[in-house]
Amino acid sequence: MPESHHNLGESAPPSIVRTPLQLLLFVDERPRSQDNIQRVQKYLESLSNDYPFELEIIDIAKQPQLVEHFRILATPALVKIFPEPKHTLAGSDLVLQLKKWWDHWKPSKQEQIKDEKEDSEPDKVNWNYSRELMELTDQVFCLKKEKEELLEQLRFKDQILAMLAHDLRSPLTAASIAIETLELAQNYGNNERNLVLKENLNKQVKQQFQIMNRMITDLLQASKSMGSRLRVQPQEMCIKSLSEEVLHHFAPRFRQKSLQLKQDIPQDIPLAYADRELIRQVIVNLLDNAVKYTEEGGMISYFVIHRTTQKIQVSVADTGPGIPEEKREHIFEGHFRLKRDEAKEGYGLGLYLCRKIIRAHYGNIWVDSIPHQGSCFHLTLPVYC
Ligand code: ADP
Repeated sequence: MPESHHNLGESAPPSIVRTPLQLLLFVDERPRSQDNIQRVQKYLESLSNDYPFELEIIDIAKQPQLVEHFRILATPALVKIFPEPKHTLAGSDLVLQLKKWWDHWKPSKQEQIKDEKEDSEPDKVNWNYSRELMELTDQVFCLKKEKEELLEQLRFKDQILAMLAHDLRSPLTAASIAIETLELAQNYGNNERNLVLKENLNKQVKQQFQIMNRMITDLLQASKSMGSRLRVQPQEMCIKSLSEEVLHHFAPRFRQKSLQLKQDIPQDIPLAYADRELIRQVIVNLLDNAVKYTEEGGMISYFVIHRTTQKIQVSVADTGPGIPEEKREHIFEGHFRLKRDEAKEGYGLGLYLCRKIIRAHYGNIWVDSIPHQGSCFHLTLPVYC
């Protein structure tokens, strides 16, 4: 653990060791985290005469397994892990919340009196024992999680191989037929009709190879991001400039399908705390889908709002076929495609990856939709503060 602070309380008689409250403070690398740590530490210190405590600071980037274990959804978060039951406080007003909860957290007077009557040694033994138990539980949890991840990777690799073998067959067959016909055409001289035929066949072969190339690239990329643990390197980033960059890149594709773009990205959107490249991948994926599933002449809307002091929301809407209500969760589950879209190219992995990336940022991603009128995908990201 990176840092720890112990205070065994001065008001207790020296012969009595009262089992300290054990607290974990989860923080990230944002500069404001240092302020939060100091504020919480200072406040706890003012309470140290009231009851002893032990505080450990956990950097979420360094100990993601603890973040999952304690189901931390936002930072900073303060978790009381001992005595049971566990209790989590989260948000920027931790001190205020602590003021409210401290009296509930520390053992009641009766419990303390009972403690004082007992010999202090068993307490110490108990405490060491529960600490050891907690560490072991953590290790078991990590090992179990690693095992699950490895099994999932194996399953996914099998799935990828089967999909690739199956899907490569049709462009491969089309390309072989075109090449065979091209060979036959060589025997019929170079009259104009034959030249046009050869040119068409050549074009077809190239097209089929492009399709195969795209399939392999997509699958390799998906396999890389899914099969490995996602490495998120959050930094302060400007969602406005990233959005404009990506939308600029998409302009030719919008034009190609005569799609109208409506955008609203306010000037004063605060910086986000996120991994720029991963968020780019998510936005590209959502726009890719919007273009793919919207009929020619439709409209794509892109807007960003500062939703709460802590969150920025990005939304991508289209006027495509929409998503039936009962499928709106499934589409994020991986390798799931709506039946009506099976003929379109894709593997049903894009949204699964988007959710994985956004959740790794403690954000949320979901879809609203009116069937036959359109879909609107929303995601939230933490503000950098
Ligand atoms: P893919 O597009 O490669 O199939 P995704 O994971 O991106 O994979 O999407 C999963 C499924 O969700 C798609 O197959 C499609 O049925 C549906 N879907 C995604 N985006 C949209 C959209 N904008 N409009 C309608 N349906 C969508």
